[in-house]
Amino acid sequence: MTQSKPSGLQPRTLAAQALGWEEPETHGVVTPIHVATTYIRDPDNQYRNGFVYGRPDNQTVKQAEAVLAMLEEGKEAMVLGSGMSAATAVIMALPAGAHIIAPTIMYWALRNWLMNDAPTYGYTTSFVDTADLAAVKAAVQPGKTKLIWLETPSNPLWTLADIAAISEIAHAAGAICAVDSTVATPVFTRPLTLGADIVMHAATKYLNGHSDVVAGALVTREANDFWAKVRRVRSMHGQILGPFEAFLLMRGMRTLHVRAEAQAKAALSLAEKLKAHPLVADVLYPGLTTHPQHALAVRQMQGGFSGMLSIRVKAGEQAAVSTAARVAVWKRATSLGGVESLIEHRASIEGAGSPCPTDLLRLSVGIEAVDDLYADIDRALRGAND
Ligand SMILES: *Cc1c(COP(=O)(O)O)cnc(C)c1O
Repeated sequence: MTQSKPSGLQPRTLAAQALGWEEPETHGVVTPIHVATTYIRDPDNQYRNGFVYGRPDNQTVKQAEAVLAMLEEGKEAMVLGSGMSAATAVIMALPAGAHIIAPTIMYWALRNWLMNDAPTYGYTTSFVDTADLAAVKAAVQPGKTKLIWLETPSNPLWTLADIAAISEIAHAAGAICAVDSTVATPVFTRPLTLGADIVMHAATKYLNGHSDVVAGALVTREANDFWAKVRRVRSMHGQILGPFEAFLLMRGMRTLHVRAEAQAKAALSLAEKLKAHPLVADVLYPGLTTHPQHALAVRQMQGGFSGMLSIRVKAGEQAAVSTAARVAVWKRATSLGGVESLIEHRASIEGAGSPCPTDLLRLSVGIEAVDDLYADIDRALRGAND
């Protein structure tokens, strides 16, 4: 595989060309999917090309990782079988007995795992409001806290965490700071440049962008001992992403900037319109000047505030549920970040113990015409309130 990588180019240029890889035999602009599970040894039994076996080593995976490391301005990247496997690989690489600080508002399945499963492996977690720096500081258990996990903007209330400030708190405590940046995407925020040690993505969402791959990603600021441990977890637990999925992910990342920018622009426009809607009590979106952390959003997110927002329906839970039942253009489905717009009543999904208000609908804005999206939800809101 040959690669020509002129320096000084912008990330969107490098991403559009998948770093300029070329297939040497045909000069194809798309590289083949490498499916081999094993590689021939040198006559003296060495593996000088670095490829030993399919569980740790795959060239299609490595290419997707190179694009990711470039996008996040990191040292190295790893792709894994899902966002959850990426997150849990970081945690399983912590020393036994480690204490973790995580947000009260976060992706529900990871909160659930930290609460119910991680303790069986010896990890304890304190859930704190990560918008409150004093609360984060107070939660540190000296000598014991090894990881501060952030998610910003966080699901499904779109609260922000100050990555630079919390990375400092983590480092002062001898802990690392890892950021689930799925919603921000590397287009709007690059946590490693703000001091975070590891950035995680549910690549299932914006990075792939077409709702047809389940994948996770990690990118590190330094190729240090901890990163080697995470790599060992991926290899030993067999969590590497399959080559076909890695290929699709790489294809998705080529259009990331165009999609993410269009989605954020549409989300801001919908947030502003819905804020003025008579049947909507509140709109949660960091791009609105009324968002309590708008100043931090402006400082930490460049070029957009993501394609995710939530609305709170004035008439309450039943009206919210029947609004979601009445939409036609929006698709009633879980997940986010695809080109098609999705709507979901989160409280029913997250179940007992969820901090999500029952009148809340989560909207993942796709790339359809904004007028079509607005007209559809307006019709559904009015119908639900008849
Ligand atoms: C979807 C999601 C995850 C989990 O990713 P999977 O690929 O579904 O395992 C983690 N964090 C956030 C913010 C997500 O949206």
